Amino acid sequence: MSYVFVVDTDRHPLNPVHPGRARILLSSGKAAVLKRYPFTIVLKTSVEQPLLTPLRLKLDPGSNTTGIALVNDQSGQVVFAADLSHRGHAIKGALQSRRGVRRSRRNRQTRYRKPRFSNRRRPRGWLPPSLQSRISNIKSLVHRLQKLCPVSAISMELVKFDLQQMENPEMCGAEYQQGTLAGYELREYLLDKWHRTCAYCGRSDVPLQIEHIQPKAKGGTERASNLTLSCGPCNQKKGTQDIAVFLKKKPELLARIVAQAKAPLKDATAVNATRWALFERLKPFGLPIECGSGGLTKFNRTKRGLAKIHWLDAACVGRSTPETIHAEGIVPLCIKASGHGNRQMCGTDKHGFPIRHRQRQKVHHGYQTGDLVRAVVPEPLKTAGTHVGRVQARATGSFDITTKPGTRVAGVGYQYCRPIQRCDGYSYTKGAPYAGA
Ligand SMILES: [Zn+2]
Repeated sequence: MSYVFVVDTDRHPLNPVHPGRARILLSSGKAAVLKRYPFTIVLKTSVEQPLLTPLRLKLDPGSNTTGIALVNDQSGQVVFAADLSHRGHAIKGALQSRRGVRRSRRNRQTRYRKPRFSNRRRPRGWLPPSLQSRISNIKSLVHRLQKLCPVSAISMELVKFDLQQMENPEMCGAEYQQGTLAGYELREYLLDKWHRTCAYCGRSDVPLQIEHIQPKAKGGTERASNLTLSCGPCNQKKGTQDIAVFLKKKPELLARIVAQAKAPLKDATAVNATRWALFERLKPFGLPIECGSGGLTKFNRTKRGLAKIHWLDAACVGRSTPETIHAEGIVPLCIKASGHGNRQMCGTDKHGFPIRHRQRQKVHHGYQTGDLVRAVVPEPLKTAGTHVGRVQARATGSFDITTKPGTRVAGVGYQYCRPIQRCDGYSYTKGAPYAGA
């Protein structure tokens, strides 16, 4: 079970509690529900000098989904887990369709606009809107979690491969020197660089071995630039021959391998622009930030025998990861960024012709589109029954409720609705409980 967040009467975060404990507090009237998602209760009495256990907030940023986990570093217990789905693609699509409509309108020469050459500079730190939205999603979630539980540090995955550690293993820690982690990260890196195929025969569905381009016997180094991957037979055939001798009859292949081996390691070191921007924007939270590499995350996850899920990846980010991660029974919260509605005041058809206008008013009969409501409709009515879901509010007072993705109850009167949680730009569902790998 995921833990339940607790705040005191002054809304200061306390230690998350076991759901059983939360149930006792609620049924005995000592606490009340503050928030449905993530489930948070508020105590009715104040707590004098609470003893807080620090939690580490761990992030694995991705382009579609960001894994989030709150981990107790001492016990290795995952306290809260979430998969955050971004809407970068939706934003990109919306901007592209707007661009298309404007472009066609200008081409029709229906309106003259003066050229604007002086106001096209982008502000410092500008990011494309789709990336900006991903970063804002993560930032707002960090901000919210900080208000619900004692977060003392942040860990995030910053780079795919840690090349500095790969090249100088002696620089960093005992685990690295023993070769296990260094070898693992190197192998992952080579698999990526050589596209999981044998460099000599191009087969990809066979076990691959790490192969020295310039053989060790002839003075070849262990650096990544002297390594490639080959299948067993090719490796044996090559033996300790020099690559120029081995590929004497295939000069094109020789040239290609040599070029690819020497290719700078830049693309792997180059930090993904979004992640770097996220790192910069997490600094103002004032918490210590630990950065890890993708290779280290995978190493940690495999070593602890955990499944490949976004939030478990997040729990394994960084060197601070505890020896054992207790994640059994954790129900992740699936958070989907849904935006705060459309800003468009005038909707157009596919030709860009205005066909509908909307009111400036967003709140109708006390509800706003996106609110989570519970509607109890009495018997003789067509929509009779209990419906829980996202509401679409209309000025007429006849609301639609989306109970599940794709299932919608139309025409529920506003007077039958009760709010559960006000819209905050995200929709929430519970994921499947983690049963272990
Ligand atoms: Zn081969």
